[in-house]
Formats: sequence, structure tokens, C-alpha cells
Amino acid sequence: MLIVGTDEAAVEADLTRGRIGCPNCNVGLRPWGHGVDREVRLLARSEQRCFRRSICRPCQATHVLIPEDTLVRRRHGAEVIGAALTAKAKGAGHRRIAKDLGVAPSTVRGWLRAFAARAVLLREHFVRWTHAMDPGHDDLSPGSSDFCDAVDAIGVLGIVAVRRFGPRPPWSLASFVTGGRLLCNTSSPFRQPV
Ligand SMILES: [Zn+2]
Repeated sequence: MLIVGTDEAAVEADLTRGRIGCPNCNVGLRPWGHGVDREVRLLARSEQRCFRRSICRPCQATHVLIPEDTLVRRRHGAEVIGAALTAKAKGAGHRRIAKDLGVAPSTVRGWLRAFAARAVLLREHFVRWTHAMDPGHDDLSPGSSDFCDAVDAIGVLGIVAVRRFGPRPPWSLASFVTGGRLLCNTSSPFRQPV
């Protein structure tokens, strides 16, 4: 799986021109049909989407192209999950968040637990990206919890990135810089700033 932009036409153009690099060997991926239809639940609506599949000819790996407003293996959009994480950082409990967002409490609890389990690592990752985009940026002083610090670090990167590159939803950026694995318990390294 590979995180790409949300502009379908632009992604398609990049794919057919070989401009999306294979994560394993960086050779341009080729179109390889479509994946299964999936429902993506956003804040205000649901969308039925069909994610594009691609193949790397040299290494034969296939990659589903996941738009950055979603996360790998999650049915809800990054903005919904981000809203839940932000509400938790502000002190709301998972039942309240679930009610406000119209999501099952067990689903919200799963998001919060997955994020909390790797909060320190996530914070470090987002701080690294912030420094790569703005080397003069001051570190935030630690707040009330690792969870809050990690959410803050995502917010700061969002602000720095908008200042440098223009508007982009912060949780889409969070998905992009974690390769869609913001909530995955995986040992594979995140996408590093270049
Ligand atoms: Zn490859």
C-alpha cells in the first residue's frame, strides 16, 4: 500500500507516466487494475471509492494506492480519526467522542489505544518532520501527557507545512508522513523527511 494525493486525475496522470516510485526500488509503478470498492466514512458524508492498484515491473510487487485523506486498514477518513484524537487530547472520553462523531464507541476506543501505544514515537516522528520543513522551529515543551504531546506535534507540523506549501488538511498530512500507518502497530519505519 502506498499513500498518494487525493486528486484522482493527478494521481492517474502520475501513474501512467511512471512518476509514482515503488517504495521498494523507486522504479516508476505501472497501472494494475482497480482494487475493491470501499466505503470511506468522512465527517459529513460517506463515499464509495475504488482504490487504484499498481505494479512494479522489476520487483513484481503490487501496491494499492491509498489517498492521503484515509489511513491504511481504517474505514473512517483521517479527518474523522483526527477529530477523535484531538477531542481526546482536550479531555473528552471515548463514549462522548463516539457520540459526537456518530461512530461506535469500540471503534473510537481502538483508535485512541492504538495512538496512545505509540504516542512517544509518533511525537518524535512529527517533530523530525517539522524540523525538516522549518529548521528554526522551536520545540514544544512537554505538556500533560504523551498523547497530548503527539497530537500537538501533528498540529504544529500542519501549521508549518501550510506556511511553507499552502493549504493541506493536517490529518491528510499526518497520513502522508506516516505512510497511512498513523494507527498501525508496525515495526516498519515511517516515511522519512527528505
Ligand atoms: Zn519495485
